Amino acid sequence: MENQNERKKILLTGDRPTGKLHLGHYVGSLRNRVAMQNSGKYIPYIFISDLQALTDNARDPEKIRRNLIEVALDYLAVGIDPNKSIIFVQSQIPELSELTMYYMNLVTLSRLQRNPTIKTEIKERGFEKSVPVGFLTYPISQAADITAFDAELVPGGEDQEPILEQDREIVRTFNAIYGETLVEPYLITPDKDICKRLPGTDGKNKMSKSLENCIYLSDEPEVIQKKVMGMFTDPNHLRIEDPGNVEDNAVFKYLDAFCTDEHFQKYLPEYKNLDELKAHYRRGGLGDVKIKRFLNNVLQETLAPIRERRHYYEQHIDYVYDMLEEGSKIARQKAAEVLKRVRRAIGVEYFEDMELRHSVYTNIDDDLQENMGGRSR
Ligand code: ATP
Ligand code: MG
Repeated sequence: MENQNERKKILLTGDRPTGKLHLGHYVGSLRNRVAMQNSGKYIPYIFISDLQALTDNARDPEKIRRNLIEVALDYLAVGIDPNKSIIFVQSQIPELSELTMYYMNLVTLSRLQRNPTIKTEIKERGFEKSVPVGFLTYPISQAADITAFDAELVPGGEDQEPILEQDREIVRTFNAIYGETLVEPYLITPDKDICKRLPGTDGKNKMSKSLENCIYLSDEPEVIQKKVMGMFTDPNHLRIEDPGNVEDNAVFKYLDAFCTDEHFQKYLPEYKNLDELKAHYRRGGLGDVKIKRFLNNVLQETLAPIRERRHYYEQHIDYVYDMLEEGSKIARQKAAEVLKRVRRAIGVEYFEDMELRHSVYTNIDDDLQENMGGRSR
């Protein structure tokens, strides 16, 4: 078992407890991580990033407290399995904060300000005039989250790439200064381009909790249907016979992300696959209501088992909290090992370092030490 684990790559990924998880999380990260977890080839660490969520919600800690359980429930609902993955809560691992302190010295302010993901998020949150230091520096704390577990692989959406790039820079700088200590992490994005950044139901922005354009994994069937039927399509496709655009059309983007040929056999057998449906829409003669109804069927089928599993765990809430507590304990042990390595590499393990102790000064006799020993006894 030990040897087998040594060969397994470590995977780490997480989500902010700022709300329930949505379809963007599902296609961008959750689907991949469940598949990787079930392959048995990795050691998955999956965490709820409450510290990161506080960086832009410091004045509303109740929101984070409330949503911790929602994210945990969504994890179990999509099939993240505590017997196969270590599920933990960021704030319960104080080692991460110490690592962040060391890494902060390796990054410049201008480098943080250039990060395109952070730039967009600052704008989205109206932080242009005054950004919390913790928010601007969250890529540094993310480097701590990842390196604390020697993680090599990070499944996530494409917004994570600039952050991972920053994390790798920290690792390289650290290793160059203090010697080979940390592992470089790489982002695993989904194969399909559309899943790397699923748009919201507004059809424009990335689906994001903060933008209120989400279909949540836990939405009830009527809510899903309402959101789908209200989605944006092609604004120039006014009459059914008009030719339609499938590229800038959120409904087709979602179909790209979710539908399979089996869905056509089941719900829309007059088409073999999505290519045929798209061709018809482009030609004209295919109405928006029909494609929305089809998308609704596809999403209902995808989300029904997830919602059912969630309902089960909602009724076993002690189990869920205990699982998070247990996972956090296990994760903390690993982070402590890595922190020890880091402290040794930097040289702040003063009291275990006999070479440092005797490098300039030595003991003439042992009187003082004996006195101290006597006192403490
Ligand atoms: P917030 O609005 O609080 O930032 P969020 O909806 O952006 O929330 P995060 O917790 O920041 O969600 O993202 C967690 C993970 O899910 C990241 O790996 C991110 O890339 C991925 N993700 C989030 N939204 C999408 C999306 N629309 N498409 C693809 N991946 C996404
Ligand atoms: Mg986000």
